[in-house]
Amino acid sequence: MRRSWQTVEVSAARPETARARTLRLRFPDVVTGVPGQHVDLRLTAEDGYQAVRSYSVAAWVPPRELELTVEELDDGEVSPFLVGVLSVGDHLEVRGPVGGWFTWTPELAGPLQLIAGGSGVVPLMAMLRSHSEASSDVPARLLYSVRSPDHVFYRGELDVVGQEDPQVTVDIAYSREAPDGRPAGRLTHEAVTASCFPPDDAPVVYICGSTGFVEAVAAWLVEDGHDPARIRTERYGG
Ligand SMILES: Cc1cc2nc3c(=O)[nH]c(=O)nc-3n(C[C@H](O)[C@H](O)[C@H](O)COP(=O)(O)OP(=O)(O)OC[C@H]3O[C@@H](n4cnc5c(N)ncnc54)[C@H](O)[C@@H]3O)c2cc1C
Repeated sequence: MRRSWQTVEVSAARPETARARTLRLRFPDVVTGVPGQHVDLRLTAEDGYQAVRSYSVAAWVPPRELELTVEELDDGEVSPFLVGVLSVGDHLEVRGPVGGWFTWTPELAGPLQLIAGGSGVVPLMAMLRSHSEASSDVPARLLYSVRSPDHVFYRGELDVVGQEDPQVTVDIAYSREAPDGRPAGRLTHEAVTASCFPPDDAPVVYICGSTGFVEAVAAWLVEDGHDPARIRTERYGG
């Protein structure tokens, strides 16, 4: 982990949805870390004005690269630039990866329960990728709440892992617009309870998304009897 700023190059970029883009960053030296961690990006304008934002690591690409996925916010200062303007070959200042609590490694005991709202799926995808790479036999479930099918990140990869890995269950809940035959509506307490491991299985739970989403879901799980000490949260703002 590096606490000082360093300059990295954008080595690749691909659209994830119409409003989100995955950026691959190449570091000058080897970069290592743990699923769930994030980096800070610092942008500096010509007049010296600086903006810093945090982005979770979506994937580790050893030895010198990692990937982030950024969703553009309409009135955002930094995300429209990262999604729509930044080009392959450009440079950015980065600090990290950092973060020790909201992290998962295959050695951690207990089923893995992941709950994402929108772009909060990014660090949870890093955990699922690590789960697959380790061929982990830990049962894992992802409950992913998104506005519509067009907003789903990592669609193809989630379909494959959900269908082919017997240890992994992927549930996508649509809040505004659903595919044919599926209901649309805000995530409810009942739906969260139905999609999650029961408290008796003692899962370790990771919840990531906007502050309101994270607080509502965490409160429902505690009400259901989950041990608060096994619930880890990351709030993206909003
Ligand atoms: C640890 C951490 C990891 C993060 N990882 C990711 C990631 O992997 N991908 C990603 O796209 N974002 C991530 N974020 C959010 C990111 O840091 C920025 O907040 C986001 O990109 C908006 O920045 P902006 O400059 O475009 O908007 P700002 O100019 O900062 O904000 C514009 C407006 O949007 C609101 N807002 C800010 N963030 C959100 C949000 N997430 N949802 C809804 N409204 C919001 C603000 O309150 C404000 O009103 C992460 C945040 C944290 C703290």
